[in-house]
Amino acid sequence: SDDLVRAVDRIMRHADGARRLGVRANADTPEDAARARRFGAQGIGLCRTEHMFLGERRQLVEDLVLASTDEARQAALDALEPLQKADFLGIFQEMDGDPVTIRLIDPPLHEFLPDIIELSIKAAKDEATKKDRKLLTAVKRLHEQNPMLGLRGVRLGLVIPGLFAMQVRAIAQAAKEVPGARPEIMIPLVAAVQELESVREESLKILAEVGVEAMIGTMIEVPRAALTAAQIAEAAEFFSFGTNDLTQMAWGFSRDDVESAFFSRYLDLGIFGVSPFETLDREGVGRLMEIAVAEGRSARPDLHLGICGEHGGDPDSVHFCHEVGLDYVSCSPFRIPVARLEAGRAALAESDSDTR
Ligand code: PEP
Ligand code: MG
Repeated sequence: SDDLVRAVDRIMRHADGARRLGVRANADTPEDAARARRFGAQGIGLCRTEHMFLGERRQLVEDLVLASTDEARQAALDALEPLQKADFLGIFQEMDGDPVTIRLIDPPLHEFLPDIIELSIKAAKDEATKKDRKLLTAVKRLHEQNPMLGLRGVRLGLVIPGLFAMQVRAIAQAAKEVPGARPEIMIPLVAAVQELESVREESLKILAEVGVEAMIGTMIEVPRAALTAAQIAEAAEFFSFGTNDLTQMAWGFSRDDVESAFFSRYLDLGIFGVSPFETLDREGVGRLMEIAVAEGRSARPDLHLGICGEHGGDPDSVHFCHEVGLDYVSCSPFRIPVARLEAGRAALAESDSDTR
């Protein structure tokens, strides 16, 4: 098996020598980051921050949801900030100077709020505390028919003053304590440059206060963002394609229901050979990406471009990312070797066809 390890190592080095695409990992914890490095990731392309608000911190999130005054809201955010700082500190330390793209919070609200059914049952049984009853009112007020198309990402950041600022301050303070840390701040679910501008301005102010530099960029995961990429690039130093949401919104298929009977029937009918959530749909989603790449680079020639949807680790999709001229792909740590290999193969295939 030593021979096998050496052979695989040789193949990987060959691929790494050939590839033009960088390969990063989607990792949200220091443990994931360590695993990603072992697999050869050159940075973190997506650090999701939603999970950092669950578990024991739910209490603080509830305080945030219930806050009825500016002071109460700020107190809840102030309690979260040192915890967030510690989260980011661990990741920067693990990544040792490699870039870390941290995405500001993007929870579908239903996964994040206290459970409406549980609260309703408690209330019906007369077991609800005063806080439970207040929560139930708040949760009912925030209830959405389509949470995946609702109050998520930048929308949440704009609607809850101070939420993104708290995260940006935590990122900046953590980065300041780790020599060489390279934070990149990523704004999710942007559809219009106006959404990005105000977050960018506020973030730049905080970075300057703390005395830390970071790139600020956005995900491209709403079709409108792809179509208006020239405007959006004016306020973004990088784009990362969120092809999970981009696929959902380009096809109009709910991400939450891809396991449904309807979806598998569609596969049986041969409407597509393989699910567009697995392999990037070049004609639709890919076309949106081509437009965004061209428009974005026309406005900002040094715009840095990546992908962090599931497709970033899918072989055929990696080839597409190479062809469309992205700078890197980002995928789950376990798919890193595949991404490295396919990125190398894509580059070699291109040079083969050049010399033919
Ligand atoms: C995406 O939409 O492709 C993405 C990476 O973000 P998330 O899956 O967290 O929505
Ligand atoms: Mg997304």
